[in-house]
Amino acid sequence: MDRLSDAAVTEFIAVRRDIHRHPELAFNERRTAALVAAQLAAWGYEVSTGLGGTGVVGQLKRGHSDRSIGLRADMDALPIAEATGAAWTSCTHGVMHACGHDGHTAMLLAAAQHLAKGGRFDGTLNLIFQPAEEGGGGALKMMEDGLFERFPCDAIFAMHNMPGAPQGQLTFRSGPTMASSDYATVILQGKGGHGALPHLANDPLVAAASIVMALQTIVSRNVDPLQPAVVTVGALQAGEANNVVPDSARLEISLRALDPQVRRDMERRIKEVIRLQAESFGVRADIQWRPGYAVLVNDEQQTARALAVAQKHFPADQINPQGDRLTASEDFAFMLERVPGCYLFIGNGSDGEPGGCSVHNPAYDFNDLNIAPGAAYWVALVQDLLSTPQP
Ligand SMILES: [Zn+2]
Ligand SMILES: [Zn+2]
Repeated sequence: MDRLSDAAVTEFIAVRRDIHRHPELAFNERRTAALVAAQLAAWGYEVSTGLGGTGVVGQLKRGHSDRSIGLRADMDALPIAEATGAAWTSCTHGVMHACGHDGHTAMLLAAAQHLAKGGRFDGTLNLIFQPAEEGGGGALKMMEDGLFERFPCDAIFAMHNMPGAPQGQLTFRSGPTMASSDYATVILQGKGGHGALPHLANDPLVAAASIVMALQTIVSRNVDPLQPAVVTVGALQAGEANNVVPDSARLEISLRALDPQVRRDMERRIKEVIRLQAESFGVRADIQWRPGYAVLVNDEQQTARALAVAQKHFPADQINPQGDRLTASEDFAFMLERVPGCYLFIGNGSDGEPGGCSVHNPAYDFNDLNIAPGAAYWVALVQDLLSTPQP
């Protein structure tokens, strides 16, 4: 396997720490995007900027094949005050790279340099650096700006670090891997009145309480027991005084699913339950449905190819061929709805060891020991999937 030189590993650890020092929130990744664009251009990539706001694509063509591959990294940080105590601690108070996107960007840049200098491949390499993975849907914004029309890809891949898994372990999973996330705000409009004269009012509070209970039956009575799903009512607000029937009530609901059909069925059923329950209490329900990220589904064939590359170049004890499903969400799911591919994980460190702290925690830090294997995996994937013709 092509390994990075010690000098390159040192260089990209420094790049990772530089990005870590200067974290930027969703759609504000200007410094990071400029750094990425400048490096790619210096190595001979054709660079396009401004996709989805601050997204960058670097394209490198070799040989004559019309095959293509897309590798994606995310660049955004989180609104968290850092507490790592590291020498490369964030210079921006209240903002930090607590999900390792600094590391994802550095791993892909390290691979980019290596492939530009001596990569053996035949086809088109598209390196996608996206903004706003953390809730902003930067992947979708890049696609709305014509990402895959301008840079067609036969297959796409992305890698996320995973605290709690041994450092450098590569984890794959075929099929649904990460949950969808959807949100709803429900306003129940009733008719307020005196608490002593409830028969003259239409009480939205009682309707809300009934809806909260009825929603509990969706996972238990409507969803296949073998399918993971979550309906959470996280907020219920109604009324101020003990002798007043309020005018309205508000519910905040979130939904997670690991199967696109289950997700659709649950949305329909949630709306039905709310509407019919409200109607039975003489209350009007206004439902604002906000679709979040889709279910992330790894393509069977592309995942098998990505796993085969790992098995060819890495020791077996460094590979987990079928990891667990996760209830977290990820906007690479939208890219995978358009182009088949695989989202894989690289262990950031076991619990209690360096890198073991969970993402989105103020003490989290990307494990720099992953720069070398992460970049080496990207290089191997490109060279194997876009292999040069055999003489
Ligand atoms: Zn995150
Ligand atoms: Zn992340």
